[in-house]
Amino acid sequence: MGFKIIAIDGPTGVGKSTIARQLAGKLDYLYVDTGAMFRCLAWSWAAQGCPESDESLEKLGDQTKIVFENEKVICDDTDVTQEIRTEQISAQASKISRFPSIREVMKKQQRALVEEVRRSESYHGAVLEGRDIGTVVFPAAEFKFYVDASPEIRAKRRLLQLRERKEDADYEKILADLRKRDYQDQNRKIAPLKPAEESIIVDTASLSVEDVLDYLLDCVATEKEISQ
Ligand code: C5P
Repeated sequence: MGFKIIAIDGPTGVGKSTIARQLAGKLDYLYVDTGAMFRCLAWSWAAQGCPESDESLEKLGDQTKIVFENEKVICDDTDVTQEIRTEQISAQASKISRFPSIREVMKKQQRALVEEVRRSESYHGAVLEGRDIGTVVFPAAEFKFYVDASPEIRAKRRLLQLRERKEDADYEKILADLRKRDYQDQNRKIAPLKPAEESIIVDTASLSVEDVLDYLLDCVATEKEISQ
């Protein structure tokens, strides 16, 4: 059984990270949160005053050092695990992700990361989650999933999460922010968010995280049996 790549794409707030992390854990695959990579670039970009010239963006992409260490995200030697999760960074990440030079550098880094792991045989495969994994970064991935739910359902889930954490939460504001990010991600010129060809679409509206995970594991296991 060779090294396999699982691409998980979908809109913001659909639960991709939770599902992808758990799936990778169960299969002993590398887990790559590509959104966190865009968030790191957005974090550095904001610190530099959000320059938009090609030269500044290329330099930013080439020089920002992103490292995943256990559960932590380290950017330019700073632990940014919590800091990159703010609403402000979410919005900046969505903005910076539309620049061609930024997308190019992210694609290269994501491919290199997987190649390194494939060569070192440190994992049996890789699970990457994002917006363009199945369409652009790994169009030949062995498994391509598109995880989806309506903006209203995603906003309700987010509201509950924030309330559980006793944080301020306003449903209408959450829904408006979600729709805005969906619009930006789906309508940018390069690598817009959309299901990849031949991807398996998973509508999570009435499914729990466990249900989705079981379904994905089942798809992977069935395919294994077929190919053996
Ligand atoms: O997945 P997450 O919400 O952390 O991603 C933050 C932003 O980064 C997204 O809204 C999207 O604009 C961008 N992104 C992207 N391509 C990816 C992953 C994330 O454009 N593969």
